[in-house]
Amino acid sequence: AGDVVTAGRILKELKSGCATPLPVLRRVADAMADDMRAGLASDHSGSELKMILSYVDVLPTGNEKGLFYALDLGGTNFRVLRVQLGGKDNRVIDTEFEQVSIPRELMFGTSEELFDFIASGLARFVESESGIFHLPPERKREIGFTFSFPVNQTSIDSGILMKWTKGFAVSGTAGKDVVACLNEAMERQGLDMRVSALVNDTVGTLAGARYWDDDVMVAVILGTGTNACYIEQTDAIPKLQSLASGSGRTIINTEWGAFSDGLPLTEFDYDMDNESINPGEQIFEKTISGMYLGEIVRRVLLKMSKFSALFGNSVPEKLSTPFVLRTPDLCAMHQDDSRDLYEVGMRLGGIVGTTSSTLEARKVALEVIDTIVQRGGRLAGAGIVGILQKLEQDSRGLVFGKRTVVAMDGGLYENYPQYRNYLKGAVTELLGPELSKNVIIEHTKDGSGIGAALLAAVNSKYI
Ligand code: ADP
Repeated sequence: AGDVVTAGRILKELKSGCATPLPVLRRVADAMADDMRAGLASDHSGSELKMILSYVDVLPTGNEKGLFYALDLGGTNFRVLRVQLGGKDNRVIDTEFEQVSIPRELMFGTSEELFDFIASGLARFVESESGIFHLPPERKREIGFTFSFPVNQTSIDSGILMKWTKGFAVSGTAGKDVVACLNEAMERQGLDMRVSALVNDTVGTLAGARYWDDDVMVAVILGTGTNACYIEQTDAIPKLQSLASGSGRTIINTEWGAFSDGLPLTEFDYDMDNESINPGEQIFEKTISGMYLGEIVRRVLLKMSKFSALFGNSVPEKLSTPFVLRTPDLCAMHQDDSRDLYEVGMRLGGIVGTTSSTLEARKVALEVIDTIVQRGGRLAGAGIVGILQKLEQDSRGLVFGKRTVVAMDGGLYENYPQYRNYLKGAVTELLGPELSKNVIIEHTKDGSGIGAALLAAVNSKYI
């Protein structure tokens, strides 16, 4: 019984360390809004939020027509897509896509090898074009290129790669214009296409959602990592200076994963961060995104099993392995509402190697999961309110008085119902029952691919 007491004490401390009562949510939302302003003021403000200019200042309206391509490189796969747009009445006439996995050795090869592989995949895809897809004579096929690595954007169709992330270590790309890299590879393939828009995946998601709904103002990705972008008034961007665009607004890529002000963190978060490949960076991402939720839970369970006999007399074999517990595993256990928590017991056995678990131990594990997922979802909600609040304050009340849509995408948001509910709950608590009626949080399934093609269309060289 003393063991359960010890585990219970660790759980109690965890819960108080992760608590997100309204004042904490408010502090986080306020800090997000302040950091956004600092990042918009100058690139040298020291703000954690980079607030990157996307150069996307024309948004899809629904009137776009013709054949456009999208190419998406953001992880271990790249995707190619074509869409035939039919204007206001016909919208998306047809769309086709293909996904190609990137051979591991290319993630460690040269820039030329990687881009040649992508260009040849694209060339093959273009060859299969037929049927309803139609390009008018004398026109090149145009591409929207979604590239989800940190890029210093220099125009709508060019940007310098700052560094590879997500396990890529390709030589010779950093410091180069990634559109030029792609163009050169297409030339080597004899493929005559032009890149009309280079976009971040969040920006693509916003554009894709906005195509269907004029009230979309914000897009958020909650998957392996996290990011958010939104539509800003150009006169609220001091660092934009003379570049003011014609339309008076532009999409800002917040890179909000880097945020950290006012977050409720515990020893488990600090330890995980210290042992990560990027200590001190991406703290918001490490608290709310899919890559990390399982790992935080693992660390808590490991401490519990070291200091108590929660899972028997020895520490379960695999519980010491970093990242062995993944967020989809938490999600599966979280859905277990049986009396004996059978699923929780099975998963703990299979994944971390507990030889047996008492009902009490399963309940504790489930509470740890709920605590970490609740904190993640609620803080993500506070971040969203921070963005809305910033927009409202600087646009003299243009946001909360009317319907405003936040487009959500990513595997975590899509698949984890409790996370989703915690997120929405925090938004409602922060805004109150009246204002929150106007804020619609909406899942957009795979908006980013079509979004990039739409941005190629609105930035077409032929209009
Ligand atoms: P990306 O890796 O580009 O972010 P996704 O948006 O598909 O791709 O997100 C994948 C992430 O979503 C996974 O790393 C995982 O953290 C999370 N995820 C996937 N499936 C589930 C699930 N069933 N329950 C909870 N989280 C999930």
